[in-house]
Amino acid sequence: MQKIYLDNAATTPMHPEVIDEMSRCMKNIFGNPSSTHVFGREAKARMELSRKKIAEALNVLPSEIIFTSCGTESNNLIIRSSVDYLGVTRIITSPLEHKCVKETTHEMEASRQVEVLKVNLGENGSVDYDDLESKLKSSGKKTLVTLMHANNEIGNLLDVERVQRMCEETGALFHTDTVQTIGHYPLDLGKLKIDFASCSAHKLHGPKGIGFAYIKKSTGSHPQITGGGQERGLRSGTENVYGVVGLAKAFEMAVKDLDEHKKHIEELKSYTVEQLKKNIPGVEFNGLSADLNKSLYTVLNVRLPFKDALIGFELELKGIAVSQGSACSSGASKVSAVIEAILSPEQIETTTPVRISFSCYNTKEEIDVLVGVLQKISEKHLVTH
Ligand code: PLP
Repeated sequence: MQKIYLDNAATTPMHPEVIDEMSRCMKNIFGNPSSTHVFGREAKARMELSRKKIAEALNVLPSEIIFTSCGTESNNLIIRSSVDYLGVTRIITSPLEHKCVKETTHEMEASRQVEVLKVNLGENGSVDYDDLESKLKSSGKKTLVTLMHANNEIGNLLDVERVQRMCEETGALFHTDTVQTIGHYPLDLGKLKIDFASCSAHKLHGPKGIGFAYIKKSTGSHPQITGGGQERGLRSGTENVYGVVGLAKAFEMAVKDLDEHKKHIEELKSYTVEQLKKNIPGVEFNGLSADLNKSLYTVLNVRLPFKDALIGFELELKGIAVSQGSACSSGASKVSAVIEAILSPEQIETTTPVRISFSCYNTKEEIDVLVGVLQKISEKHLVTH
């Protein structure tokens, strides 16, 4: 049976050149980067070259890139150390953040008595910037703003320059979760002047188990994992050298092919929207995901005009992998917190969200298969209701 992968916001297949680069490194280098002999120095040199390449592409200092195990760890490091080390007593965030930000801020509220404020959302889940500004100005407490650059479920993009200006004016620290956007947009972190950002290699055709936190030098940070003092004391533990090499290669490939891939994926996304509208009466889209200018081009969140909790399984039976943007337990699917935050109870009761997320490897032919299957499912529902 055909297998169609349209769940690239969850993870991406590795780029063949990344696999080659990592295999070469595994064959030739095994030293511990902390060892002072030649084996260690070789490993260290590979790692530092990788760090330098990533830093150059983001226009930041190599020392501002701290390798971690993933996006979750990076976001944890940033939020926890802002509270424990930088004196943050107030966090402004949104109801749409990834769980690793949401749970961590809740924990800071419960265990450190940090005040947590959620910014109001406008139509379609976009951040209400006026509300953010008034919240920022409403207190003199040391504040961290943590708002994701692009939402992983509905694709809404944040105006990071605007938020950065507001934070600068009010003396707040600014963290943006860039896990879904690094390698997909030409981000100049140096110019943007934000304090913290995060990356996960497996979202950009790199390996799992490696990511980084960008921590602006003038801002500072404090380790969450202590021990041997690796990563300039900010993240102890013997470094994942192969992961770092794979991350740097994935990043290099992503930057090199960015325009071409963006164009290809944007065309696919527009085609998907067009075909769904043509073949499924009443179809709509969640968040701003159908608006190419206001959403992450790799994500489209479809709102099917009927309730079908098993749609993920039905698509899987046809070999198509998507996500419902929902947490599944014991076979029963529950609407995700993001969808719950942006839809009315009636919309939740009567529609089904399907998140389609694209990569450079997807084709129009695959979209035709997906739309055909969704059309058949929707016809079945229209007949039975
Ligand atoms: N932040 C966002 C926006 C994400 O989409 C994800 C992964 O889905 C994460 C953080 C967590 O990244 P990781 O899987 O590397 O822990």
